[in-house]
Formats: sequence, C-alpha cells, structure tokens
Amino acid sequence: MLFDLEPKSKREDLFGRDNEVNAIVNFIRSKSRFLAIYGIRRVGKTSVLRVSLNEASIPYCYIDARMLENDFTKRRLYQLISNCLTELSIKWRLENAIRNITRAVRGINILDSGIELNVEIDWRNAHLTDLLNALSMNLSQIVIAIDEAQILRMMKGFGKIDFTQVLAYTYDNLNNVKVVLTGSEVGLLHDFLGLDNPKSPLYGRFVEELTIKPFSRGASIQFLITGFRQYGVEVTINEVLDVVDKLDGIVGWLTYYGNARVRGINNINEIYERAMKLIDGDLKSLLSRSIYYGLVLEAIARGRKHFNEIREYITLRLNKYVALSEVERALSNLMKMSIITRVAHGEYEIMDPIIRMKFSQ
Ligand code: ADP
Repeated sequence: MLFDLEPKSKREDLFGRDNEVNAIVNFIRSKSRFLAIYGIRRVGKTSVLRVSLNEASIPYCYIDARMLENDFTKRRLYQLISNCLTELSIKWRLENAIRNITRAVRGINILDSGIELNVEIDWRNAHLTDLLNALSMNLSQIVIAIDEAQILRMMKGFGKIDFTQVLAYTYDNLNNVKVVLTGSEVGLLHDFLGLDNPKSPLYGRFVEELTIKPFSRGASIQFLITGFRQYGVEVTINEVLDVVDKLDGIVGWLTYYGNARVRGINNINEIYERAMKLIDGDLKSLLSRSIYYGLVLEAIARGRKHFNEIREYITLRLNKYVALSEVERALSNLMKMSIITRVAHGEYEIMDPIIRMKFSQ
C-alpha cells in the first residue's frame, strides 16, 4: 500500500520510479563496480534501492548505516554484518557458501540448527577485508548495499575502521563484489569518499551516480489520489492540491500525510505539527552543535535569503557582532548536509518543506 510508512521493497508498492529502478538493476547486472545514490531525506532512496535489489535477483547484503548511530563501534557494525549474512543464507539458499566463508575467516562462526544458519562474528578477531575476500571467492556475485553511507565516516579513528580503505581494496581486487551507497547528506558523502581528493584511498576511482529527485507536481497529485483510493478514503481535489503545494514532491512527506489521513486524523494542521515534531528529532543533534545552524534556517525560512541578509538577521537576533566566517561556515555545512541549497541569484533555500515550515513560525 502506498501510504505504508516503512520503506517499500516490492515493485507493486512503489509508485513510479521505473527509470530509477531500471538504472539500478542495470548497474547491478552490468560490469560497473560502484554506484552512489544521492537525494535528500525522505525522497525515496531506500525504497528505490530495496526494490531494485529484490528485482535484480543477485545476492545482496543490505546494511543501514543509520543503525550505527549513537554506537559507532566495530561491535555494532559486525552485529549488522552478521544479520545480513544470516539473511543472505536464508533468502538466497546459500548455506553452503556461508559455511565455507565462516570456515575461511577468523572470528566468524555459525550456529547451525539444521534448519537455518545464524552467523556470529567476533568483532575482536574478524577482519572486514578477509570477509570480503571470502565472500568474493565463494559467491559468483554479491552486491553490498550501504544506506546513508556518509555515516560510515564516523567509524574512522583509533581502533575503528577506515571504510574508504576497505572500499578501495574492494574496488581494486574483488571484481565480483559490487557496492551501492546511498547518501542524503550529499556533500558529506562526497567528502568522505574523496574521489577527487588525492589523499583519499578512493581517489580517482570511478563511481556511477544517480540522483533521486522529488516527484513532479503531476506525480505527487497522482500519488495521493492513488493512495487515497487504495484505502477508499475520499478527499477533495483542493485538499490534494494544497498538500502538494506544501510538500514539494517529497514522497516521504506525502506518504506521511496520506498515512495520517487514512488513519483518521482529519485536522490537517495536526498532521503538519506532527511532521514538525518528527523533524525535531532529525535536527536535534545538528542544532545542538552550533546556534548558527538554527539561526541560519530561521533567517532563510523568514525570507532573508542572501548572505548579507542572513548575517544581518543573525546579528539582530543575537544582538552582537557576527563574524563573516561563522555565517560562511554554517552555510557551507548546511549545504554539505543537503539541508539548504543555493538557488538563483545567490539565494539560499531550505530543501525540506517541513523544515521550512518549522523555522518560518
Ligand atoms: P529515503 O531513503 O530517501 O529517506 P525512503 O525510501 O525511506 O526515503 O522513503 C520515505 C517514505 O516514503 C517511506 O514511508 C516510503 O514508504 C515512502 N516512499 C518513498 N518512495 C516511494 C514510492 N516511490 N512509492 C511509494 N512510497 C514511497
């Protein structure tokens, strides 16, 4: 059903996106090695990726790097990898290959109930490159899909894992291992991969790119009409047009709205209030890092869209001198996180309609 809040994984639940799914399936079946999928939060990256992985019929291991948040440890990472290896064996009937892999790699064991395998990894002893080597040797092909991959940069550091090295090793040595990364903080993913940075292990490697864009106005209208029809809920065309005007084709928000309405929330303002609360959770850690982030967003949402206007707004709000560099830094970081973008005539704009709504109040 279109208004289910979980990311979609079946084609019949996915509205549109045929071109995007075809592009990913073609990538998986081609000789290309790495693909990066960009797009802001809630635009539908995970859904498109999951549907494509299921359609391509090639074994894959899917890791949602958001599951590492608040726990950027090797231990947590290996837990996620164990889960995906267990799933790999069940979903693709690869028990024998998984047995071989676990035999070949130090620190990896299986619990074999005779019915299904459960992979266990001892994070102190296991090495990611050994594991990738073993996967490559025992499977004819495998896709490693990492959602919100910019989060992996947090694992760098003492006793942790430098993923760019692991990815470079995979790229250079394991021809039958494909990697798909998604990132909603596009600039951060770019910086992390460092494809243009001579100091990065991945420097100079070729990565295909796909950007998932918001729905067009027409597609958004059709999405809502189809969704409401699925649930037999009647809404006026004026309501649909109003929602589409407010939510800018961000399918996650359209889904959220539709879901709330079909669950019987008829007070439209309440739906937006709830969406803004949800955004509070997303933005909490960002806003706690610097007061400038919130003030920049406030300035832009209230119509101060040029650099000088933004700086002036912040100066007035704080009632103190604000250095040029502070504002520059905040703008640059917010751009890297794909929260704002620069549009025509040097104006800045907030990309997410709910963030815009929240800060304009
Ligand atoms: P992202 O990974 O970009 O944050 P998700 O794939 O998690 O986005 O999608 C956000 C929400 O929108 C989820 O509720 C998902 O079910 C819904 N959704 C996204 N794309 C589609 C689509 N093409 N058709 C139907 N629902 C979608």
